[in-house]
Amino acid sequence: MAHISIVGSGNMGQAISGIAAKGGNTTELLNSSDTGTPVTGEIVVLAVPYPKVAEVIDQRGAQLAGKIVVDITNPLDFATFDGLTVPADGSAATEIAAALQRCYKEAGKPAAYEEFLDEAEAAYPEASAPVLAKARWVQANGDNPREYLSGRLSRKPTLQGLLLWLEGGPVPDTTLESLQTLRESLGRSIQARPKHLCSSCGLRPNVLYWQCPQCKSWGTVVPAEDVF
Ligand SMILES: [Zn+2]
Repeated sequence: MAHISIVGSGNMGQAISGIAAKGGNTTELLNSSDTGTPVTGEIVVLAVPYPKVAEVIDQRGAQLAGKIVVDITNPLDFATFDGLTVPADGSAATEIAAALQRCYKEAGKPAAYEEFLDEAEAAYPEASAPVLAKARWVQANGDNPREYLSGRLSRKPTLQGLLLWLEGGPVPDTTLESLQTLRESLGRSIQARPKHLCSSCGLRPNVLYWQCPQCKSWGTVVPAEDVF
C-alpha cells in the first residue's frame, strides 16, 4: 500500500482521495492554502485545473523530484471550452515532464531527471511525450537534439520533434542520412494525418464515411486537402 499526496481538494481531489483510502492506502489532501505543507506521499496526484499545474510544480519544486507524479488534467482552454492550450501535436504530458526538470534541479539531482526521462521512454516506447521532453532537455543543455531525435523520429514521427530537429541549425552536407530521416519522418507524419473532414462538424476521420459517425449528417465527409 502507498502513501498518496493529492494536491487539490476539489471534486476530483476528494474523489481520488476517497478511492485511494478505500483501497487501503493512506492519503493526504492538500489545498491552495497548504502551500507551506510539504508533500509526504511517494505518489503525488496533481488534482488541479491544467493552468494551475505549472504553479504547483513551481511551489513544490524539489519535493516532487523522484516521486511518481500523476497528472489528471485536460489542457482545455477554459476561456472558450472548445480547444486545447498545448501546441497542436503536443501534449500536456510533454509540458509537465519538461516542467518537472526544475524539481530535480532544485533537489540538487539534475542527472536524475535524465534517468526519469529514459525510464519513461523505455516504459512507453509508443508515446511521444518522453521523446519530446528529452529532446528539449538536450537542447536546454546547449547540445543539438538532432542526433538524439534522428533515431527516435524514424520510430515515432511527430511534428514537434521535427521542429526541434530543424531548430538544430544548418544541416552539414555530410548528413545525407539525417535528411533521409527527415524525409521518412515527414512522410510517415503525413500518412498518419486524418485524410477526411466532415464539413458539418469538423470531425477528421481516417476513412471515408457516407454518414458522419459524430454528427450523423449524410454526405458531409469529404477528402481533406490540408494535410497539415
Ligand atoms: Zn460530422
